[in-house]
Amino acid sequence: MERVLHFIDGAFVPSEDGRTFDNVNPATGERIGTVAEGGRAEIDKAVRAARRAFRSWSRTTAQERAAILHRIANLIEENLEELALLETRDTGKPLSLAKSLDIPRSAYNFRFFADFVKGLSTETFEMEGVALNYALRRPVGVAGLISPWNLPLFLLTWKVAPCLAAGNTCVIKPAELTPMTATKLAEICKQAGVPDGVVNVVHGFGPDAAGQFLTEHEDVDLISLTGETTTGKAVMRSAASTLKRLSFELGGKNPNIVFADCDFEDAIATTVRSSFVNQGEVCLCGSRIYVERPLYDRFVEALVDRARKLRIGDPLDPQTDVGSLISEEHLQRVDGFVRRAVEQGGRVLTGGKRPEHLARGAFYEPTVIVDVDETCEITRQEVFGPVVTVQPFDTEEEVIRLANDTHYGLSATLWTSNLKRAHRVAGELEAGVIWVNTWFLRDLRTPFGGMKQSGIGREGGVHSFEFFTELKNVCIKL
Ligand code: NDP
Repeated sequence: MERVLHFIDGAFVPSEDGRTFDNVNPATGERIGTVAEGGRAEIDKAVRAARRAFRSWSRTTAQERAAILHRIANLIEENLEELALLETRDTGKPLSLAKSLDIPRSAYNFRFFADFVKGLSTETFEMEGVALNYALRRPVGVAGLISPWNLPLFLLTWKVAPCLAAGNTCVIKPAELTPMTATKLAEICKQAGVPDGVVNVVHGFGPDAAGQFLTEHEDVDLISLTGETTTGKAVMRSAASTLKRLSFELGGKNPNIVFADCDFEDAIATTVRSSFVNQGEVCLCGSRIYVERPLYDRFVEALVDRARKLRIGDPLDPQTDVGSLISEEHLQRVDGFVRRAVEQGGRVLTGGKRPEHLARGAFYEPTVIVDVDETCEITRQEVFGPVVTVQPFDTEEEVIRLANDTHYGLSATLWTSNLKRAHRVAGELEAGVIWVNTWFLRDLRTPFGGMKQSGIGREGGVHSFEFFTELKNVCIKL
């Protein structure tokens, strides 16, 4: 049993009122620990500590901060086994995935931003003979970093690394379902030489609790949130009274478009991954699959066949492909979407239920649904589970219309060997991230973020620093 505490001003502390909540392993349903439940008092203490620490941390050089960030990356790598296990126990995801994706990418986030910050430049404009303008880049202040439960350390470090690299301090509010790796990260930061108060972690819930109090706090300058679109709306409201700078990475209902001239093997193998990896609990998963009619039957048959072959079960077993969903409550939500899809005429070709061989845990079979259209709830709402729909299409115009018929705009994937079509369709799709003949391939220098209600702002490379720094112009009369 773990006793998980807050990390405030360099020390692990309980809540002032002693409140805790349970941490449950969703793959077993067992209670694995208790977590300190933060409220206004803990958020306030953490924000004050972050403000005090900002004075000196913001005056360190990029070189000094980069050296510390590299030490954090080294320590994440040295603790890979432990971090991966903590992530698996919190989320129910396969340990093999945590080891090969979540934790290595978390280390890389620190390395990448450590190196990138050293090469950051600003603008100079000369008004010949009159004046010289140059911009100075400065950290903003105290950041509230709010992260989700699906890729806990991976997505948190995507925020913490540029935040610290730019010279800001932060208060982290991890998802209450996944408190462990954020806590371990705090320990690692201390070990790596991050001064007290620069990184703080307050555990607790979102609405009317620690998360909301952080977004309302008058001494927090910026909020970076990854979470649901509805959470983004709530945070925007609560951050409005203090006019905070906001960066939102929100939900998605991403189209995966397969033209008949694609490389079939590549398209089907990647589609299986983009549908079911991490139990479909990835914001970038391609949950709406559109297949050009001549290929439709063959594609659906192969997808169903491969979905059935995925091994679902114990996340600790290296052979497991699909682990447990995050919670029993989330499983009920996912199942509700499937039930209503059937009521609306959808046909479940595989999945749509718990696996019979698993007596406990929040496991749900990879699910493929057909015979739905754009009026059905299942093609419009984000399910965030191992559930995809497949629809046929006849023309390029039709599939672009279907793909864009959503209030989300996070990512889109298309499969074709026609170069002109690839450029044409990529240009028309309303999504912040477009993949052609691939999926989940990320160069961290490129802009990442959603259009429409999938987010506000872009992260990655210089875009992260545009959020985490202020530019001030100095004009010198010559
Ligand atoms: P939630 O929006 O439920 O929660 C995200 C975080 O926000 C949690 O830490 C949560 O706390 C907190 N929170 C919730 N309500 C508030 C509030 N009113 N004020 C402040 N903080 C709040 O998302 P999930 O954790 O369920 O994650 C899944 C969602 O995240 C999906 O919609 C997915 O698409 C999206 N996502 C987007 C990504 C992207 O890059 N665009 C990447 C990954 C996920 P608590 O958990 O304690 O309630």
